[in-house]
Amino acid sequence: MSSMNLLSHIKKIKDQAAKNASNRDFSKNRQNIWYDWKDGDQVIRFVGDFIITKSHWMTPSPYNPLKLFDEKSFEGNNPLSKLTNCANWDIVNETERDGGCIVCLLNKISRDILRSSAGIDEETRKEFDSLKARTDFRVNYRWNVLLRDKPVDQDGKLVGYNIVQLGYELFEEIAAIHEEYSPAEFTSVEEGLDIKINKSGGGDRGGRTKYRAQAVFQGAHLKVSPLTQEERALDLFNLAEICGRQSDQDLVRSKLLQKWQELITEYEKGDESAEQAAPAPAPAPAPAPVVQKQSPVSAMKNAKSGKPF
Ligand SMILES: [Zn+2]
Repeated sequence: MSSMNLLSHIKKIKDQAAKNASNRDFSKNRQNIWYDWKDGDQVIRFVGDFIITKSHWMTPSPYNPLKLFDEKSFEGNNPLSKLTNCANWDIVNETERDGGCIVCLLNKISRDILRSSAGIDEETRKEFDSLKARTDFRVNYRWNVLLRDKPVDQDGKLVGYNIVQLGYELFEEIAAIHEEYSPAEFTSVEEGLDIKINKSGGGDRGGRTKYRAQAVFQGAHLKVSPLTQEERALDLFNLAEICGRQSDQDLVRSKLLQKWQELITEYEKGDESAEQAAPAPAPAPAPAPVVQKQSPVSAMKNAKSGKPF
């Protein structure tokens, strides 16, 4: 290696270290900007427009212990995020796109296999049911909010905007408030409303987590909550930029458990290779048809093409 190469090699390492450091800073800042719904009541002022995100949970849950990745994939160098944006969702245009999302590909494969149903035993069916559920995406709505319960920090400094995440159930409640208040906008700087959100159930208390939203009243009237001059001077977060970070899909694929990588590779093989893999004619007539144990993907392909096993 020439000295020039060594220099550029060192520079590369140093650049990488600087990048990692800034990523750490970013994630440190990030924690401060997310607002997690608390149990019970909280009063929130929604401001501006929302965005729609689609994401995948990459880790097993108590309801679905199926693993896509080793735990180590979420640590060390280039860790995966446990909640990862779907690469097939265009967050700016709010449309589907072909972004090569590996998790969605696994979802498609599991659907195809379950649909074809031929040659799948019960155990395999269960596994692909779990895979289908595990690889589905979830839709969320993200919004800039001011926290009315805690507008300033311990130093008396304005906390500023936080970002909240709403599932569809809560989004619908918010949308209902918007409709009732229309044509005024409940997010407007001048005529906006404070909203009380109640979270109950879920977690250790068992049952499903429920969210309820209602506009805050003052006496018999809705409490209009114009922003102060100080609040108006605050910058809204660029939601698409902050919530739209994309993972490298090649990296995601390379970190999948071996069996899922193999499943994708087999699925991606064209019909051509399926034909080549057809068994050679038997030298003598077999006494009974022997059904060979085949993979779920080849079972699916055979069922699709109507070919015998
Ligand atoms: Zn996806």
